[in-house]
Amino acid sequence: MKIGLEIHLQLPTKSKLFCSCPTTADQPNSSVCPTCLGFPGSRPSLNRKALEYGLMVARFLDCHMNQKIWFSRKTYFYPDLPKHFQITQYESPLGVDGHYDLNGKRIGIWRVHIEEDPGRIRRVGRSGEEVSLIDYNRSGIPLVEIVTAPDMSSPAEAREFINQLTTELRYLVGISVQDEQSIRVDCNISVGEERVEVKNVSGLRNMEKALSYEATRQAKMLEAGKKIVRETRRYDEERKVTLPAREKEFEEDYGYIGEPDLGEYEIGAMAAAIKLPETPFMRAERLAKQCSIPEATAKQLVLTSMNLADLFEETCSKVPPEKAVQWLLGPINSNWSKFEPILGEKKGEIIDVIKADSDGRINDNEAKMRLLAMVGMAEVSTSDEGGRDIEVLVNQFLDKHPEVVKDYRTNPKAANSVIGHLMKETKGRHSSKEIVECVNREIEKRV
Ligand SMILES: [Zn+2]
Repeated sequence: MKIGLEIHLQLPTKSKLFCSCPTTADQPNSSVCPTCLGFPGSRPSLNRKALEYGLMVARFLDCHMNQKIWFSRKTYFYPDLPKHFQITQYESPLGVDGHYDLNGKRIGIWRVHIEEDPGRIRRVGRSGEEVSLIDYNRSGIPLVEIVTAPDMSSPAEAREFINQLTTELRYLVGISVQDEQSIRVDCNISVGEERVEVKNVSGLRNMEKALSYEATRQAKMLEAGKKIVRETRRYDEERKVTLPAREKEFEEDYGYIGEPDLGEYEIGAMAAAIKLPETPFMRAERLAKQCSIPEATAKQLVLTSMNLADLFEETCSKVPPEKAVQWLLGPINSNWSKFEPILGEKKGEIIDVIKADSDGRINDNEAKMRLLAMVGMAEVSTSDEGGRDIEVLVNQFLDKHPEVVKDYRTNPKAANSVIGHLMKETKGRHSSKEIVECVNREIEKRV
């Protein structure tokens, strides 16, 4: 099975791609102007930030960058597109021939380009009496389109690809996918020779379902000796099936022409000047190698928060990685919403507690209590006389049980009963090392 994706994601600019209308609005049709409504005589001008974000995505995906780009008009008639063409990039995408490594498997990236979003059509009312409403707030919102090679081999892998990619891009350019339905994907899938395109699927869950349905449908047809025809289908979310799309559209039907109102842009220098930060999955890979921890563990760290990964790296410079994992992916990760806000102030203290535990100066229970106390989740006895406290308890016990001292003369293991008692009494306030030393010392005094 071969699956290729065309993924559309919104770029996080404040204003639209070709006008200065804000990208956020409360009321329908409140963020519009002659340009994004396509009035005659209006002229677009390119949002530099959107271009920059697009270039970052293309560079991140290791694309070969074009030096010069221009825009094209993709002509079609639909009510969500008042000027009857969408400004996109056809012959000159930002970058081509890139790749992304998904869990060790290379996924080819054919092209990355930017384009404007059309408006949004909302159908309301009962079936049969539906009314279509159009909201042009979305018209002109900047999108980046990423087209992959058909390198994915299952619907689950396709979903995983988009999941990871959006995590990376959220960090890289701040693309925020709050609503997974806002990810729009055209999917190409072939089980046999001929490929079928399922157009305009919203959301990852729907994409996976549409691909699974299509994989089964094609496999059944092949089994029955039927031929799969190359076609465009759509996904019916309610019936959970793919259906032939009514109109057949091929690229040549769109009658692309160069957009005369926008010029050519030399982007070589701008693309080369972009500095890419280390993204979450790049970091997970490095941490796994550098600290010899499992890759799944490293991913868990970065996916919780890059701040947790920062804390991990710092802790690892003081204690063995498995100790850092024990605490950071244990109590700290489970209470991350409480720990993250105090990091600025208490980072050093957190690391000190883990170090004390790692060195055997305190035990796990004590370490846990001290950590949780920092976020107000546990009480810690602040007695500075902790050391003396054990001594008192040991001697009280020995006073009551003189036979232990007697037995100890012939069998030092007799001390174990005192140690066990102390561990119980102190409820983990002291490390076992500390207790053992104290017990032996006090018994020796009486022997
Ligand atoms: Zn506008």
